[in-house]
Amino acid sequence: MFTLIQLPYASLAPVISDQTLSFHHGKHLQTYVDNLNKLIAGTEFEGKTLEEIIRKSTGGIFNNAGQILNHELYFLQFAPKPAPAGGRLLAQIVKQWGSPEAFRAEFEAKGAGVFGSGWVWLAAGEAGELCILQCPGADNPVAHGLKPILTFDVWEHAYYLDYQNRRGAYLKELWKIVDWKVVEERYAK
Ligand code: MN
Repeated sequence: MFTLIQLPYASLAPVISDQTLSFHHGKHLQTYVDNLNKLIAGTEFEGKTLEEIIRKSTGGIFNNAGQILNHELYFLQFAPKPAPAGGRLLAQIVKQWGSPEAFRAEFEAKGAGVFGSGWVWLAAGEAGELCILQCPGADNPVAHGLKPILTFDVWEHAYYLDYQNRRGAYLKELWKIVDWKVVEERYAK
């Protein structure tokens, strides 16, 4: 049985309003959890991890498992008072993009460019090389053999109450709450 993750903070306002956080975590993510539990009951996927399910499933099971993993990575990477970027991850970003600003600009542009609902990801390959992925729907780096490091949700439910159609403004604001300590730990794992 999958359960809804607890959030390690009470609020991320004003970047993400309390109303958006409440609906996004308490309603949208809860629905994916409930759906997946129903879909996998009595199947080969019962008792498997989200990553295992994502690698082997298709259709509704893939979509709901993917959305749970994606949202867990999204919500758990934020903090009201986040740690700044540093360490090996920052060094790799500078090596590949030239500067953190250049990386953020490409990440925002790729997030803005996802057509319809989806996700933009920073992911790592076997040798630690980084890439920015645009993923539709529930898709994610795990399904492509890559390690997920950082993600911005670009489904409208993630930003519409606060930013309406201004996805680019939402993406730009999110940097203010990215906790790079969490993101670096994912890269180091
Ligand atoms: Mn979402």
